[in-house]
Amino acid sequence: AKTKEHINLAFIGHVDHGKSTLVGHLLLKAGAIAEQQLDDGENKFRFVMDKLGEERERGVTIDLAHQKFSTKKYDYTVVDCPGHRDFVKNMITGASQADAGVLVVAADDGVMPQTKEHVFLSKTLGINQLIVAINKIDLVDYDEAKFNELKEEVSALIKTVGFNPANVPFIPVSAFEGDNIKDASPNTSWYKGDTLMQALDNLAAPEKPVSLPLRIPIQDVYSITGVGTVPVGRVETGVMKKGENVIFEPAGASGEVKSIEMHHETFETAEPGDNIGFNVRGVGKNDIRRGDVAGHVDDAPAVAKEFDAQIVVLQHPGVITVGYTPVFHCHTSQVACTFLELTAKLDPATGQVAEENPDFLKTGNAAFVKVKPTKPMVIENAKKIPQMGRFAIRDMGQTVAAGLCIDVTPAK
Ligand code: GDP
Repeated sequence: AKTKEHINLAFIGHVDHGKSTLVGHLLLKAGAIAEQQLDDGENKFRFVMDKLGEERERGVTIDLAHQKFSTKKYDYTVVDCPGHRDFVKNMITGASQADAGVLVVAADDGVMPQTKEHVFLSKTLGINQLIVAINKIDLVDYDEAKFNELKEEVSALIKTVGFNPANVPFIPVSAFEGDNIKDASPNTSWYKGDTLMQALDNLAAPEKPVSLPLRIPIQDVYSITGVGTVPVGRVETGVMKKGENVIFEPAGASGEVKSIEMHHETFETAEPGDNIGFNVRGVGKNDIRRGDVAGHVDDAPAVAKEFDAQIVVLQHPGVITVGYTPVFHCHTSQVACTFLELTAKLDPATGQVAEENPDFLKTGNAAFVKVKPTKPMVIENAKKIPQMGRFAIRDMGQTVAAGLCIDVTPAK
């Protein structure tokens, strides 16, 4: 049987607006969990998520960040929500790149600071499809006028970061009561649009980026008897065929692809999403390492001398100034990079320039910056190859910032 296409969903929105409750109820309606897993009482749906969280900590059940459910059309994975610890890092490193966002706005509260931040952040991180759930509609007596008022307010907000509100479904829901999650609710007979599950099924499945240049960030390099050196990694973009010439950057080693293997089977070609091991003529174990990126010789991965980036400071105990040199995590590489220039501070809710050449950046700030890697690294313009342009900045054991490369000054 043909496997269903798959969509990663991020639930975003202000704290307490009902993200966990909505995910819990959605899992229930989709049949991914059973009623028995629910607690009684006011917090019953949120309980599902908390409960799974608890169990995860005890190592009993699946990761909260990777809850799965299916409809007739798609398989979905709920990726972690902003605010949860490694959300941004996971998104950036591609572990859980979200294909679409469900923005949850509580009808009684309206647009709040985190609503704005998450909208801006998700756009920065490359989420281009959005569904808006106006939640807790029960708390405003299923009032159509109130819904329309919020729809206008949220439309204005998402427009500032570049979403077209005309293409975004706005759905009145009660995560707690279940209105308009799977079936149209009689409580909102004035609403003629899709339910949440219908809107999810109207999302476009992500296309495999087969026409972008070939990029395979190397995770590990093995020596296998009878085969030789076998770099392994996931094909992020492009297609690789046996017999083609590939180069590893920044290492510079190159050669002809002799074999491609996946799950102990050999293949003639590898595509985006494939986790492969491959062997390249003349490339030995000491010639390449984790963090190198393989690409075609005639369209090699870009090695940056310096690069410009747009960043969001997520949680920093101090301030970021020129000269600061934390570790940048980009695809499989980890390289300390120095801030050369704080070019401009941005309004976190709109992305517009708020201040040129600020003295420092602190938690909550978004900015354009110029950065210099302390050793050669592959990073590319996220507009050309999104998968190769995202990074997380880690320091003192936490993700302090996240961003996108917007221009590269090549080293070669
Ligand atoms: P999160 O922080 O966004 O994940 O929000 P939660 O899912 O934890 O919900 C916060 C509180 O709002 C909880 O007490 C929920 O029971 C309550 N809540 C969530 N959705 C609804 C809803 O649709 N209607 C009502 N009345 N309460 C809700």
